[in-house]
Amino acid sequence: MPFHLSLAGREAAGLKRSLPLIDKVEGRLLWSAGRAYLNFAGNDYLGLSQAPELRLAADRAAREFGAGAVASPLVVGHQAVHRALEAALCDWLGLEAVLLFSSGFSANQAVIKALLGKEHLLWQDRLNHASLQEAGLLSPARMLRFAHNDMVALEARLKPSAGLIVSEGVFSMDGDLGDWPGLSRLAGQSGNWLMIDDAHGLGVLGREGRGTLDALGVAPEQVRIFMGTFGKALGVGGAFVGGSRELVDYLHNHGRSYVYSTHLPPPQAAAVLAAVRLARRADDRREHLNQLVRQFRAGVAELPFELLPSATAIQPLVIGDEADTLALAARLKERGLWVGAIRPPTVPKGSARLRITLSAAHTQEDIRTLIKILAEAAEGVSP
Ligand code: PMP
Repeated sequence: MPFHLSLAGREAAGLKRSLPLIDKVEGRLLWSAGRAYLNFAGNDYLGLSQAPELRLAADRAAREFGAGAVASPLVVGHQAVHRALEAALCDWLGLEAVLLFSSGFSANQAVIKALLGKEHLLWQDRLNHASLQEAGLLSPARMLRFAHNDMVALEARLKPSAGLIVSEGVFSMDGDLGDWPGLSRLAGQSGNWLMIDDAHGLGVLGREGRGTLDALGVAPEQVRIFMGTFGKALGVGGAFVGGSRELVDYLHNHGRSYVYSTHLPPPQAAAVLAAVRLARRADDRREHLNQLVRQFRAGVAELPFELLPSATAIQPLVIGDEADTLALAARLKERGLWVGAIRPPTVPKGSARLRITLSAAHTQEDIRTLIKILAEAAEGVSP
């Protein structure tokens, strides 16, 4: 198997990925080789990963129930703490039923592969996450990708009652919102199902952090499948899929990455439950985060960077060339900033970027430092 050739090719193109070893992340700070960096690379948008309530909940559950769930949910994995988390999610988001997954990646696999047959069509926004694209490629359905948020292009390719339209609440690498009013209108008119992956909107947007649909005033019933993750604003890890009782029963039976996978460890489920309770009451954290976003955008507007039109915590600076992006990230790191350099194939060719993410754990002073260091590092970057 000539996989080494592919690796060598990636290396030559400056696209080889390597795994950074760090000591720990502590809210706004990331420690690596004994040095503290300001962390602008995570998805802990509300800063909950460090909250004492979550640590305590995990600790208590570990003592009471043990470290692991010991089996898949349908065998003997499903415990009272999982049931309590499911109920809390339904109550928060107005869903009839949900099921839990150990990752968002596996949740998306389960839904798309279990629901669609070869007679179906699957429409996906071109910028949808790799887990959605991959599930589409592996499902028997025919997948059609439409230009990012382009409702005219989607409408032109839609067929009545033929399948599923999938898009994201907040796009993970661009930070903009999906056109959910447009998507729900088109899905309603054409009789197709709609699925939202709200990994980056849940907890951050909408009343009580209910997510992108709530923020945009789209009724949850218009979107048949709601997928959210626990590893971003909720600060832990894992995911869920929600919808009707019938949908969830179907996935209990046919969602292979649900049926054949060990359930969430009880300490993890307990920490997520604590996070849901905190997130519902976290208007102060959301307001602080929004202020930091405005402060950041006002500061960067003066610098020679291409800032994407995002009003969320994801604030990418598009550099274009991969090597330039890596070099810039390295310069920022020397000066104490930890920022993700995102390259193809994660983003389209020619649009390599610094994916700067803000968190309610940051302070206004952190944003001033970020802008100051970006300004220094920008020397030599062409606008
Ligand atoms: N969907 C989106 C939009 C994501 O950004 C991610 C994570 N990067 C996932 C799904 C996968 O979630 P998880 O990390 O829980 O596997």
